[in-house]
Amino acid sequence: MQTIYDLTLKQMQEMLEAHGQKAYRAKQIFSWLYRKRVSSFDEMSDLPKSFIEQLKQEYSIEPLKEIQRQVSHDGTIKFLAELQDGSSVELVLMHFQYGDSLCVTSQVGCNMGCSFCASGLLKKQRDLTAGEIVGEVMFVQKQLDKEGRRVDNIVVMGTGEPFDNYTNVMNFCSIVNSDLGLAIGSRHITISTCGIVPKIREFAQGHYQYNLAISLHAPTNELRRKLMPIAKPYPLDELMQALREYSEDNHRRLTFEYILLHGVNDSDEMAITLANLVRGMNAYINLIPYNQVDENGYIGVDDKKALHFYDILMKHGVKATLRQKHGDDIDAACGQLRAKHERNKQSS
Ligand code: SF4
Repeated sequence: MQTIYDLTLKQMQEMLEAHGQKAYRAKQIFSWLYRKRVSSFDEMSDLPKSFIEQLKQEYSIEPLKEIQRQVSHDGTIKFLAELQDGSSVELVLMHFQYGDSLCVTSQVGCNMGCSFCASGLLKKQRDLTAGEIVGEVMFVQKQLDKEGRRVDNIVVMGTGEPFDNYTNVMNFCSIVNSDLGLAIGSRHITISTCGIVPKIREFAQGHYQYNLAISLHAPTNELRRKLMPIAKPYPLDELMQALREYSEDNHRRLTFEYILLHGVNDSDEMAITLANLVRGMNAYINLIPYNQVDENGYIGVDDKKALHFYDILMKHGVKATLRQKHGDDIDAACGQLRAKHERNKQSS
């Protein structure tokens, strides 16, 4: 059954009109769902009883139920949750000084095949609907409500390539961003893509205020093709050209994600090449410690090496940040917990 979280405000108004209801009730329903955060239609006490019965016939509210959670010593929580069709998704909640940040999943599995990623070990089964992604946020928000906390930031950086599920991801952003919904500001929502150039151009034309992050991970085409198959149809020069145009047209700063992999992309030469690639752009590089994925043999770098790489970037005129390790004592790498769960399901 479709979750009502699927509907943007406009779609909610259209649904109401199709049921002979006044469009203003869309605001009432948004308020029940996202402000009061009810879990049943029966609680929506200002809606006509007969209409509530219709809603119950056509929509569910909560699309997720918890399968497992792991809590790290640093406060990171990884949830594995089940969707209505039995598929599982991962969510990671990280606590920073500036607030709680939730990493959501946009697809069940992923077809992009990045060689360092546990999510790529399980091929895409399907796209998540907008409402299922909203459901991920609501699932966590309802838990945070008990402690008076809120989801302050959302990163669409979990399993899946968001721009391979473009319409649903953009509808998701519109729902959580809505002032009548969770009102999470555009600048607090980050979409991360591995580099699907036509979709970057489409996103640029939308003039959205959401943040855009690029999973770069290699400063040369040769290495990027080895790590990320998407670099074959969309080589680095095409990608960088589309990003420059996006950044200039939209006056937006870009984030380049760069996972440091020992002996692969962590040399001084790579750091200089990376700095040369990005210098002059309105961008910074986010260096990410690698959460090792057992199956593929990559290993991360130590803190000293990461700092050295960071220093080279800074010396060569490029802004960078060195992300703290999160959840290194749990299965925090993207897709790791789900991959284990699916293997266990198959062997039982
Ligand atoms: S890094 Fe992202 S795009 Fe690449 S395989 Fe993993 S989930 Fe997919």
